[in-house]
Amino acid sequence: MPRDNLDHADMNDRPLKLPKLLLAELITHALERDPEECCGLLLGRGNTVTRLRRIRNIHESRVNRFNMDPLDIIEAERDADGAGEKFVAIYHSHTYSQGYPSDTDVRNAVESGWLDPFYVLVSLVEKTRPVVRAYRISDDGMVAERFIRVLGAGSYTSGTTRPGLVE
Ligand SMILES: [Zn+2]
Repeated sequence: MPRDNLDHADMNDRPLKLPKLLLAELITHALERDPEECCGLLLGRGNTVTRLRRIRNIHESRVNRFNMDPLDIIEAERDADGAGEKFVAIYHSHTYSQGYPSDTDVRNAVESGWLDPFYVLVSLVEKTRPVVRAYRISDDGMVAERFIRVLGAGSYTSGTTRPGLVE
């Protein structure tokens, strides 16, 4: 459950709907790239994710930064357009810090203007217990956590991922 100074009133607004299989794929991607940060896009319709696309992290300091390969993004955009889908969320991992958007993450989100998608963070601070959280970032840099509803796994609260949930 949320315990930070987040906007709790918004917690019920627009949950991110993520199939259990894709939640597992997200965590797998993070663990495969560890200790570097992974990044990618969650495609779908509305708030519902239907597909995950891994994007290459081309930042020169990948252990604590990410920069999505623009060519991969163009390809993902074409893919999404062709399927009548959009980018529902942008995800990346934190291998040494909590699953909360860093100041850099917030600044990049605001500067990129990509504020419609959710921002999903996978934290690997505890390697055996990855934590996945979802946020919205507004144009003034405010961060609000959102629920993640795992489809096919009952209801789920962002931040409480346990390995058992994704098996
Ligand atoms: Zn980050």
